[in-house]
Amino acid sequence: MLKVLPEEPIDCYQSPATGMSKSRRLIIHAVHIGIQALRPIVNFVGAKRLEKPMAWLERQTKGLLFDCRMCGNCILNVTALRCPARCLKGLRNGPCGGVRPDGNCEVDSAVPCAWRDIWLHNGGLLPDRQPAQEHQFIGRSTWIAEAFEGMPTASALPPVRELPAGRFERDLASGDFVITAEIAPGTAANASGILAQAKLIAPWVNAINVTDGAGAHAALSSMAACALLVRNSYTAVLQMTCRDRNRIALQSDLLGATALGIENVLCLTGDGVGNGDHPGAKPVFDLDAISLLATARTLRDGGTFLSGRALTAPPQYFIGAVENPFAPPQAARVQRVQRKIDAGAQFLMTQMVYDVPAFELFMAEIRRLGLHRRAHIIAGVGLPTSPKAVRWISKHVPGVRIPEHLIVQLETSADPVSTGISMTINTIRRLRAIEGVAGVHLLFHPQRLNLMGDIVTQAGLRNRSDSSAEALLPLN
Ligand code: SF4
Repeated sequence: MLKVLPEEPIDCYQSPATGMSKSRRLIIHAVHIGIQALRPIVNFVGAKRLEKPMAWLERQTKGLLFDCRMCGNCILNVTALRCPARCLKGLRNGPCGGVRPDGNCEVDSAVPCAWRDIWLHNGGLLPDRQPAQEHQFIGRSTWIAEAFEGMPTASALPPVRELPAGRFERDLASGDFVITAEIAPGTAANASGILAQAKLIAPWVNAINVTDGAGAHAALSSMAACALLVRNSYTAVLQMTCRDRNRIALQSDLLGATALGIENVLCLTGDGVGNGDHPGAKPVFDLDAISLLATARTLRDGGTFLSGRALTAPPQYFIGAVENPFAPPQAARVQRVQRKIDAGAQFLMTQMVYDVPAFELFMAEIRRLGLHRRAHIIAGVGLPTSPKAVRWISKHVPGVRIPEHLIVQLETSADPVSTGISMTINTIRRLRAIEGVAGVHLLFHPQRLNLMGDIVTQAGLRNRSDSSAEALLPLN
């Protein structure tokens, strides 16, 4: 089944999108007819009696032909017969943002990304949103299930409920170029660190994102940190990753966010645990980012849990997603944005942009599809000040692309901090000029947060006098 496919071109965001080959479609059709033909036999003998021998037969056949892992929720019909269970995070909706430049997996650099492979075999097309894996079916025969129930499909999303907009949503709706910034909640079991960081940057930003165990390192919870920010009248964006919690915990936290007054949630898949401080931890990934977005929307707009159980009072939040325009396969990235918006994303933050010309191409495709009108696109911006760190990130952090000429510029600079600041100001100015970019998301090292005011003023985003504007400051 494996055949060598052409490499996808770099910095090409327009997918060939030819779809699955005719021969694969024919195989899928033939298998479907075969499964339907099983129905009278299953009816006669009984599904329960046939489960064991059919599961054995399925395991042998599909294992040999498709490297099947018997997830019990087979979606080979939409993945061009390439098994998605090979994804080391178990994702069901396309590649995460950590695919390495060589197309290998973020979790294990020796393993090719399963979703890049699916995308290539599927003729440059990501499948439509797929339902989350139902773990109770692992190891069971999907042939028997399919004969009776058909292939699993994601349930339709409820219509969007009109709700009063929070402060960040209003800022974006006003059309002003917004600034958000990310802070890490730290390892102190108190509020001092988080509030000190917020105080430093609040005069310059519209909202503050709090990371959720960034880089798979344990820290004060994003939820607790956001609640502290809200209590002190800052606008917080709660980051939620799928790495550490299953769908029960994630839904409970989404309700908790509204109960604590948090108005914005950002749904992410999350990094693998291998690079964190607890590499032996169990990676959960019960949902992926797209399923989490759909879940957030189901709770808010449908007023029910994923199980269908009604909520007493639904949550209210502004829903965000992330995307990495630079991770391969690049042409799948805009499709991912589209799937995320379809699943409920109202704003979208990108990985740090160092390669502005490549990002311009990404945005051109976003505009061509009108996605910038359906969600606010906010470009990530880093502050490179240490040549050594930048070289290391470029080499070792999957998904971050830093052009070589920028690294060399920093390495040969007599004052790398000033050079990094100039680069960042230049990047912000260029990003602001791109049609469809609604703002910038600043990702600075905690020790460089004090430079934010100078950078945003020199980039022309704020005046010094803005820093005393009441709208940007905590109210008490
Ligand atoms: S890079 Fe991400 S999407 Fe691809 S196989 Fe690894 S975890 Fe899965």
